[in-house]
Amino acid sequence: MALLTGKTALITGGSSGIGLMTAKRFAAEGARVAITGRRGDLVKKATAEIGQGAMGIVGDVSDTAHHDHVATQIAATFGGLDIYMANAGIITIRPSFDVNEEEYDAQFAVNARGTFFGVQKMLPAMRDGGSIILTGSLASEKVLDGHAVYAGSKAAMGAFARVWAIELKSRRIRVNVLSPGPTDTDIVNKLGVPADKLEEFEAGMAAAIPLGRFGRPEELAEAALFLASDASSFITGINLRVDGGMALL
Ligand code: NAD
Repeated sequence: MALLTGKTALITGGSSGIGLMTAKRFAAEGARVAITGRRGDLVKKATAEIGQGAMGIVGDVSDTAHHDHVATQIAATFGGLDIYMANAGIITIRPSFDVNEEEYDAQFAVNARGTFFGVQKMLPAMRDGGSIILTGSLASEKVLDGHAVYAGSKAAMGAFARVWAIELKSRRIRVNVLSPGPTDTDIVNKLGVPADKLEEFEAGMAAAIPLGRFGRPEELAEAALFLASDASSFITGINLRVDGGMALL
């Protein structure tokens, strides 16, 4: 039997990269999936690719009213939610003392605030026994040049997950962090690294990964499936790194 038969799942930032691959994986395991994203054209294309009656909702996770809208849509269309993956995220790499207020606020607004209020607003529609997955980042545990603001905003995932795992225990809702190391998605092109320095940057990152390469979105989707499904039914409050061993060096 498929691992998510009869389950419903919502993935924020699900129109590309890790989120889209996870949405496809969940759908292949029998889940009814909804994704959110900022661009209507990309959400529509991704929803068609996922198939299986997938639903797309357009909006910005840094806008709390968007989360109210998503919760209403989910309750009306799915009747309730079993799996919430707070995955939308942005990054700007910049030496700390060159970071401006706009870059700082944007990363915290999407990565931390977007996750916090997304989960808060969805909780009434979540079914007891559900699974919440927060996409963190290995960057929050490593000393990486120019990553201070991003790392700070992603460190919130660990704090949220630990507190929520306890606050939601009476509803048997499990809350875990999925922390990717460098993974081959479009976000790598949005890092703010000049195009002519990107190859060098990527080679430097790969050299710092014991398994010698970037992760693939499929590998993150597999780990998300583990956290979403009953395969991890006794696991809550953890940080699951999928990083090729990068945390060790
Ligand atoms: P991606 O750029 O393909 O995915 C990020 C998604 O978030 C996109 O679909 C984007 O449209 C969406 N998004 C961004 N801002 C949004 C907003 N304000 N409202 C709604 N949606 C928004 O890259 P990805 O690598 O698949 O990233 C997925 C998650 O993984 C992110 O949280 C990212 O920080 C995290 N992560 C990625 C890596 C990596 O190397 N790729 C490493 C560690 C953590």
